[in-house]
Amino acid sequence: MSDFSSFDFTGHRALVRVDFNVPLDDQFNITDDTRMTATIPTIKKILETGGSAILMSHLGRPKDGPADKYSLKHLVKHLQELLGANTKVFFADDCIGDQAGMNASMLRGGEVLLLENLRFYKEEEQGDKGFAEKLSKLGDVYVNDAFGTAHRAHASTAVIAEFFPKDKRMFGLLMEAEVKSAEKVLHQSEKPFCAIIGGAKVSDKILIIENLLERATDIIIGGGMAYTFLKARGGKIGNSLCEDDRMDTALEILEKARQKNVSIHLPETSVIADKFAADANSKESPSDQIPDGWMGLDIGGKAIGIFSEIISKSKTILWNGPMGVFEMDKFAAGTKAIALAVADATANGAFSLVGGGDSVAAVNKFNLFDKVSYVSTGGGALLEYFEGKELPGIAAIK
Ligand code: AMP
Repeated sequence: MSDFSSFDFTGHRALVRVDFNVPLDDQFNITDDTRMTATIPTIKKILETGGSAILMSHLGRPKDGPADKYSLKHLVKHLQELLGANTKVFFADDCIGDQAGMNASMLRGGEVLLLENLRFYKEEEQGDKGFAEKLSKLGDVYVNDAFGTAHRAHASTAVIAEFFPKDKRMFGLLMEAEVKSAEKVLHQSEKPFCAIIGGAKVSDKILIIENLLERATDIIIGGGMAYTFLKARGGKIGNSLCEDDRMDTALEILEKARQKNVSIHLPETSVIADKFAADANSKESPSDQIPDGWMGLDIGGKAIGIFSEIISKSKTILWNGPMGVFEMDKFAAGTKAIALAVADATANGAFSLVGGGDSVAAVNKFNLFDKVSYVSTGGGALLEYFEGKELPGIAAIK
């Protein structure tokens, strides 16, 4: 692979896989443009050093070919705004075919061509070689900047790389930063290394916890998933979220942690509620003595104190998943306190990586985006990386 930062793009047509899979409202307004803004530095660098950029992405999950709802044409205006009026942005209403080929070949240095949704072809998700080859003809350099889809072995994210010589394929700046920070946490973590895992379901997080047992010093478990562990240990959890069929796994994880000398911390106390609603009655309770009819919707004050103490002593922190139902203000205090503890530890020299949709939303909600070391744009991809899997999008470039 080549090094993006030192590559001279003069005269090159760079085919860039971006992740423009942004949420749109009914009027096709972009409601969160994070994924677009995150990749703008990569595009600008190509243009500023004399290259042109052909951008390819998927948007949503179109089922049967082209559908207006999933057209990338809805993104052109905003892309133009992000790149500035001096940059010419063209749109090709097909990602392969004669027209796309012509549009691409006519591009001049400093110009951008956005291709129509890759997933209008089922061959994209099938990782079809012929489709990848057709795409590859549009550019002479391949740049992958789509960390969000790096865990997919799709035509444009993985298969396409083989049609470019090693010195003409590379990570973009976003991908490079994502990979660097994830590698730092997983392979070069300064100890103590604390992983904070939250969210709704144990079943989604079993593999990541098992892999972290090999590397972390402490694993803090919060959110809805904590109650499966608490019940498995014999606690009374009332109506809290629980996956009964995962209780054995939870016990196995606790036992493995003991053998490996990794401390797993469950919330000693919870904020419990008499219904799943913003206007529920609520009070604090020991997490293993929750009365019937009540449910744990946030970690309690004592848990916040213990968790914050562990975080403050850590040198490496990975955070994935909220500590409670932070979307409701009444149950957001635990997630907010943990976010602040991560920010404090970062200010004191720890390296902190926050990833996974909801923890990123939490960091944004509490305005702490700039107070942690790195906020990942990859939900599923980051999770799979920390599960110890090789991501096809990364492997293909390397
Ligand atoms: P995940 O996508 O698995 O990371 O889960 C995130 C979701 O878990 C958020 O929407 C939270 O509201 C929810 N959540 C967190 N804690 C709890 C809890 N104690 N009970 C129910 N849902 C929760």
